[in-house]
Amino acid sequence: MTAFRRDPADILAELGRLRAGDAPTHGGRVLSYVYDSGEAELDELAAAAARLVQPVNGLDPTTFTSVAAMESGLVGFARRVFHGERDEGGVVVGTITSGGTESCLLAVKTARDVWRAARAGTPRVPRLVAPVTVHAAFHKAAEYFGLVLDLVPVDPATGAATPSAIEQRLGDDVALVVVSAPSYPFATLDPVADVAAVCAPRGIALHVDACIGGFALAFWPDELPAWDLAVPGVTSLSADLHKYGYAPKGVSVLLTRGRDRQRHQYFATTAWPGYPVVNPTMTGSKPAGPLAAAWAIVEALGEPGFAELTGRAARATGVLRSTLDGIEGLRVVGDPTGPLLAVAADEGLAPEHRVDPHHWADAAREAGWQLQLQPGLTQADGTRLPHTTHLTVTPVTETVAAELSVSLVSAADAVRGTPPVDGDALVAGLATQVPGGAQGLVAAASAGLDSEAAAGLLAAFGLLGGQGAERALPDRLAPVLALVEALPGPLTERLLVELLARVVEPPAAASD
Ligand SMILES: *Cc1c(COP(=O)(O)O)cnc(C)c1O
Repeated sequence: MTAFRRDPADILAELGRLRAGDAPTHGGRVLSYVYDSGEAELDELAAAAARLVQPVNGLDPTTFTSVAAMESGLVGFARRVFHGERDEGGVVVGTITSGGTESCLLAVKTARDVWRAARAGTPRVPRLVAPVTVHAAFHKAAEYFGLVLDLVPVDPATGAATPSAIEQRLGDDVALVVVSAPSYPFATLDPVADVAAVCAPRGIALHVDACIGGFALAFWPDELPAWDLAVPGVTSLSADLHKYGYAPKGVSVLLTRGRDRQRHQYFATTAWPGYPVVNPTMTGSKPAGPLAAAWAIVEALGEPGFAELTGRAARATGVLRSTLDGIEGLRVVGDPTGPLLAVAADEGLAPEHRVDPHHWADAAREAGWQLQLQPGLTQADGTRLPHTTHLTVTPVTETVAAELSVSLVSAADAVRGTPPVDGDALVAGLATQVPGGAQGLVAAASAGLDSEAAAGLLAAFGLLGGQGAERALPDRLAPVLALVEALPGPLTERLLVELLARVVEPPAAASD
């Protein structure tokens, strides 16, 4: 046997210490990124299932037949709960992917290839139409797969998409329309049936992105308008098992109406001297662990278990909603559907009565709650979507809802009347530390910064320095978000790339 260089217990102890620096994944303190069922037994089952298939290669379900059985079981469950069992318009088939982004990427690639196949040899570039609230995964998909992303402004007060505005964008070059159920930024349930009614007669594909909310909305206690595959004209739907399916990260489902449509999703080649490659997803070799974990969870919970857990998240959402409605200076944006909420300043009040949602989130953070700050955005029509704070509510939130409510109220009391961080003033101040001043910043935005220059700017902004855990986020995020809003988008994007790249870069080797 190979001798270990280090004692396994020692390695795991080190990992434990590293994990202690992470944001808490359980207990409801972090209201984004993590989806805690609150059921330790479910987590244990998922871990045991993942371990059983640890050595399996999910690449080939004919060699590893357990993969085929679990995938078929999960797709069958998703098809049932999302009302895809009736065959009108084509039988609903599906694929298990590595996550929401991959499901969305594949939905776009498939729609593009279906569109192209119907227009053999066309030199035209296809378009993807969606409300501006659509998840950034579709920006990524448009970039990766060469579509023009055509974002339709939403109502700036409510975040709601307008079907007529979407209809006006439709044309023969539109390969796909995407709506959300619900949208991440504002928890808006987009008007799926109305949009389907204008897409279907034109033969335009329609994807419902239910990545975040799908497995919660399917069991939501309130009556909802039809939003899933029950709507004729919906051609595909994505829903993440690693969100309200409570599975560990790395598993989502993409359902597609019509076998022939779905076959465009596949990549296949025999044109190399190795094994024939036939991939329904982006990856080649892939883990079966997240699939097995999700499958085990679905087997354990079934529909009644999902309904029970969703009920807890729904009750917690209700509690938080009424807390927020009672806080002077804040408003819940629009008409949220499902276990998400977005909170903005109540601009109807005088400034001294308003609560800036980013200062509020920073104050809540001091009390041990991590809410998610979202930047404001100017839409193509010039209207401005406000900056907001996002809360993802999970079943475990119910156990802390009362305590959280108290903290949300006192955080608001602590910052009421404090004006939002003035991003332009911040940029002007920082510009004095940058060669060329404010003009220098604008020039930097268009120059295509190299990594040294980008790191220099980050350092001037006080956002770079330290190693490892010391490079964690600053205590107050409101100024960071104000910078994100005030700097030119391409510059912010470049700086964030530099920051994230440097976070994982190993320290320079000691010179000898
Ligand atoms: C989370 C999410 C995605 C992307 O999913 P990942 O699992 O993070 O890759 C897509 N759409 C919506 C609405 C989401 O909330």
